[in-house]
Amino acid sequence: MTDVVQAPPDAAERRAKPAVVVYPNGTLPPPDMAMLAAARANLRKVDEIIVPPREGGSFRVPRGYFFRIVSTEGPQVGDLNLWNADDLSERFFSGKTRALHATHVSTGDRLWSSLPYLRPMATITHDTLGWYGWDQDGAGIHDVIGTRCDPYTHRLLGGGDYHRCCHSNLSRALGAATGKPAHEVEHLVHDVLNVFMCTGFTHDTHQYFMKASPVRPGDFIEFFAEIDLLGALSACPGGDCGATHSSDAAACHPLKVEILATEPELLTGWRPPERSSYGRSHGE
Ligand SMILES: [Zn+2]
Repeated sequence: MTDVVQAPPDAAERRAKPAVVVYPNGTLPPPDMAMLAAARANLRKVDEIIVPPREGGSFRVPRGYFFRIVSTEGPQVGDLNLWNADDLSERFFSGKTRALHATHVSTGDRLWSSLPYLRPMATITHDTLGWYGWDQDGAGIHDVIGTRCDPYTHRLLGGGDYHRCCHSNLSRALGAATGKPAHEVEHLVHDVLNVFMCTGFTHDTHQYFMKASPVRPGDFIEFFAEIDLLGALSACPGGDCGATHSSDAAACHPLKVEILATEPELLTGWRPPERSSYGRSHGE
C-alpha cells in the first residue's frame, strides 16, 4: 500500500513560489551565429561514413570543420557520443548541456564537455527538424534526457542478453577507433545526444516517454566542431523509437555522418575555446 502523506495547511502557498530558470537565457557567451552562417554557406564534403542499422561507427572532425548526421533511408534515431580527440577523459556532458540549454537542443545550442573542462565541444548550426518545437504531448526532438539503451538495464528488466543496444554499439565503435576491445573502453561511453529522437515526460507521472520520430530521409542536424573531435554514433535498435528498443523487432535504417570543410578565412574571429580556467583548489 502506498504511504499517503497529508499536505500541510500552507501547501498551496508553498507551491505558488515563482519558477526561476536556473541558467537564464542570455547569460552564456553566445556563439557567433552570423559568422557560422557565412562559413556554412561554403561547405565542401571531405569524408563520410555510413552507420549500418543496429551498429555503431566512429568518425573524426578537426576543429573548425562541420559535421552532419543525415537520415538516408527511413526514420531512424541515432545516439551520439563525442570526445576530445586528444584526451578521451574530456567528453560530452549531457546533464550540464540540459541544464544550460533545455531538455532538447537545436540550432544555436552547444554541446558542453565534462568537468573539469566545461567548454563547448560543438555548436549546432542547422537542424531540419527545428520546425517541430514542442508537440501536444510536450515532446521535442534531439533530447539530452535519455541515457542510451544498454544491455545492463535490459537484463535488469528481465530481457536477457541483447548485444546491439546503443551502449554496446558505441563501445564497439570506440574500441575499433582506439584498437581496444569494447569492454576495455566502455567506461568512456557516456550519456548521449539522442539525435532525431522524439521524447518527453508524461504530464501525469513525469515518466520518460518516446514516440515515433518525425525524421525523414534528407533530414539532418549539423554541428560546428569547436575542438578536435572523435565521435561515435549508434543507429539505435529501436529504429524510429515508436514502439520498442533493445531488440531486433523494430525496423531499422542506416545513418550517414558527413564531415564538411569550410574556407578558413570565413571563420573570422573564431578561436577554439579554452578549457575552464577554474584552478581546481576546491577551497582546500
Ligand atoms: Zn538505443
